[in-house]
Amino acid sequence: LSELLEYEQDLPSETPDEHAMPLMVNTGLAVEATAQLKNRISGVGLYRTEVPFMITERFPGEKEQTRLYREQLESFSPLPVVMRTLDIGGDKDLPYFPIDEANPFLGWRGMRVTLDHPEVLMVQLRAMLRASRELDNLYVLLPMITNVEEVDEALKLLDRAIIELGEEGVRVERPPVGVMVEVPATIYQMDALAERVDFFSVGSNDLTQYLLAVDRNNPRVSGLYDALHPAVLSALDELSRDARRLGRPISLCGELAGDPGGALLLMAMGFTSLSMNAPSLPKVRAAIRRVTLADAQQLLNEVLRLATPTQVHQHLEARMDEWQ
Ligand code: PEP
Ligand code: MG
Repeated sequence: LSELLEYEQDLPSETPDEHAMPLMVNTGLAVEATAQLKNRISGVGLYRTEVPFMITERFPGEKEQTRLYREQLESFSPLPVVMRTLDIGGDKDLPYFPIDEANPFLGWRGMRVTLDHPEVLMVQLRAMLRASRELDNLYVLLPMITNVEEVDEALKLLDRAIIELGEEGVRVERPPVGVMVEVPATIYQMDALAERVDFFSVGSNDLTQYLLAVDRNNPRVSGLYDALHPAVLSALDELSRDARRLGRPISLCGELAGDPGGALLLMAMGFTSLSMNAPSLPKVRAAIRRVTLADAQQLLNEVLRLATPTQVHQHLEARMDEWQ
């Protein structure tokens, strides 16, 4: 990092016209390294619980999971830690839980797996709740939601876990719960979802793949995979408006948040926080500190009128160069 960029990292993530844009990190392993960033971030926007599950030989038990989650919650306390329930399937297979399907990204993934295996989800929820005792910074996030019934079912299991623990003498409150907006169907169910949950988190990696019908990992079609596609941007803009209308915070935790130009557009749309991999923080913070909210909104208006991904990239690059 240049000295300037390094120096800026301890300054607030705020535009020159004083609009604060909270930045969060995505975590999986290596808690210690990211926890060092505690003073520079607003919390963990996405803890991918499947990551530690990938390096074990079987499903970790409740005790082991409690230890893992406690480590996350303690390391970042009092900042919020958004823990996503197990999001396996798609490209993320556990060696001890193989899923063999013709279309894994359209198949048994995320919440679909854990609702079919409530015994797995219950252990995880109980461990999260146990780990959160007296810390109060746990947020639970549900991946791959397609229908509101899935949310209702997950909430029922969460409440059951709370009751069970209470009966065992472990008193815990229900943590705030959010859904991942990554299946396009959720775009059209924001009202019903907001009645059930406390916050939204957009998974732009999957939302892009599903909106554009482009496998996020297939090199043959990677030229078509683009989170700055006008259709994706217009969906994101609409989501942010809906969340605001419904009085729910909306974060974005896909790769787009870690792209400085993308981050400015998301800020202009009104996203309440951005969560990214730690190495992206410096360049995103620098972009935010250089561009006023008014300028970012002007840029968004210009970009939303463009018809092709190429035009969006060219326009964004030109403006980013001016702001260097
Ligand atoms: C996403 O889909 O954008 C996301 C953040 O989740 P993952 O990359 O783990 O699918
Ligand atoms: Mg996803």
